Amino acid sequence: MKSDVVVIGAGPCGSFSALAVARSGVKVSVFEEHSSVGVPCHCAGHLSLKGMQRLGLKSSPLFVENLFKNATFFSPSGTRFCVCSPSQLTCVVNRKIFDQRLADIATRSGAEYFFNSRVKSLLRERGVVKGIVFQRQNKIEKVYSKIVIDAEGVASTVLKNAGLKPLNRKLLVKAVSATVDDVRDVEIDGVEVYFGKTFADGFYAWIIPKRDGTAKIGLATKRNNPKNCLEYFVRKHKIASGKLGRSKILGLSYHAIPLGGPISKTYADGFLAVGDVASQVKPTTGGGVTMGLTCARIAGKVAAQAVKGNDFSEDFLNCYEVCWRREIGFDMRIMVFVRKLLNRLSDHEIDKLFRVAARLRLNEALARVEDVDFQGNTLLHLIKNPSTVAALAYFFFSALA
Ligand SMILES: Cc1cc2nc3c(=O)[nH]c(=O)nc-3n(C[C@H](O)[C@H](O)[C@H](O)COP(=O)(O)OP(=O)(O)OC[C@H]3O[C@@H](n4cnc5c(N)ncnc54)[C@H](O)[C@@H]3O)c2cc1C
Repeated sequence: MKSDVVVIGAGPCGSFSALAVARSGVKVSVFEEHSSVGVPCHCAGHLSLKGMQRLGLKSSPLFVENLFKNATFFSPSGTRFCVCSPSQLTCVVNRKIFDQRLADIATRSGAEYFFNSRVKSLLRERGVVKGIVFQRQNKIEKVYSKIVIDAEGVASTVLKNAGLKPLNRKLLVKAVSATVDDVRDVEIDGVEVYFGKTFADGFYAWIIPKRDGTAKIGLATKRNNPKNCLEYFVRKHKIASGKLGRSKILGLSYHAIPLGGPISKTYADGFLAVGDVASQVKPTTGGGVTMGLTCARIAGKVAAQAVKGNDFSEDFLNCYEVCWRREIGFDMRIMVFVRKLLNRLSDHEIDKLFRVAARLRLNEALARVEDVDFQGNTLLHLIKNPSTVAALAYFFFSALA
C-alpha cells in the first residue's frame, strides 16, 4: 500500500491535517485504531467562538450544545469571582459529532480513512521515516508514504519511535469527565470553574451546562485518584454538591491532559507531530482543540508542499515548527509560566488572590477580553490597566514567595 501522506489518528487534529493535505490535491490516508470517529469521547468540548472562526469552522446547531458569555470562578474557600462578557465568547460542542464532521469534510475533499487500524510503529530506512506498520484484524500491514503526520494524541507511542522527545510528564494531569442530569442553580449561559487542592490539585473542576438540562462536569488532578476526586466534588464540595448532589452520573471517561507546553521539536525527516502528541494544549485551561487545529492546518499545508516539492527533509519540514511557533509560541510560553506559578500557590494563597482580584475589580477588565485562546497576548493587553498590574504583581509575589 502507498500514500503520499499518512496521518495517524482520526481525532480533530488528524482530520484537520488530512483536510489541509487533501485540499492541496495530495493523496492522504488516515489510520484510526477505533471502529469510528469521535468515540470513545473524553473531552468536554468547551471551545472559543473566535478560535472556531479563525479556523474557518462554522458553529452549527448540529454539534453546538450551548453558548456562553459568563464564567464564574470559585476559590477553594468558596469566594465567587464572576466575569460577565457583553457577548457570547465560548460554546460547548458534542465532540463525537464535531470530530465526525471534520472527518466528513476531509473525506469529501479526498482523504481516505482506515478504521480498526492501529499503527504499531514507523517504517524507517537509514533513519528516515518512510511509512507506517499497522495492525488490522490480527494482520500486520505496511504503508509506504513520503510523510507521516502523527496525531495519535497524548499516548505518544509512535512519537518515541520517530526519535523525538515526548511531552513533559511532570505536568501531565489525570482527568475525568462525565455528563450529569438534574443540575440545579447553575446559570444556563455561564460555565463554572472550581479551584481546590483537595479535589483538583494542579488543575480545576468544571460545570458546563447544556440547554437540555444536563451538564458536562469534570476535573483533573496531579496526584490523586480522579474518580474519588469527582465523587468528593459532586457529593461533598460545599458549593458544587448543592448543585450536583441529586444528579445521576450518565457516563464517565478518563484521559490525561498535557499541561507542560509544546514538545521541544515537532518534526524529523519525513515526520510531523501535531495536537496532543506534541502537547499543543493550553497549559492554563487544558484546551487543546483550537490550538491543536491551528497547528494541524499548518502541518497539512507543509506536508502537501513537501510532497509537491519532493523534499521531505528535516531542513524543509522545520518550516512547520517555525510557522506554528509564530502563531501560538508566545502565548504557550506565557501560559506555561502561569501554570507553574498557579501550581505553587496553596489554597489559602489562591483565596487571597481571588479577594485581591475582586477588590481591584479585575472582572471588569477581563469582561472586555474578546479572545480567550491567546492568553499571553491577553495579559499584554490587560497590563495597560493599573488594577491588572497590581493583581499580577500580587500573583507573582505570592507564587514566588
Ligand atoms: C477530560 C478532558 C476534557 C477536555 N476538555 C477540553 C475542552 O473543553 N476544550 C478543549 O479545547 N480541549 C479539551 N480537552 C483536550 C482535547 O480533548 C484534546 O486537546 C484534543 O482532543 C486533542 O486532539 P488530538 O487530535 O490531538 O488527539 P485525540 O483527540 O486524542 O485523538 C487521537 C486519535 O488517535 C487515535 N490513535 C491513538 N493512537 C493510535 C494508533 N497507534 N493508531 C491509530 N490511531 C491511534 C485515537 O483513537 C484518537 O482517535 C480535554 C481533554 C480531557 C482529557
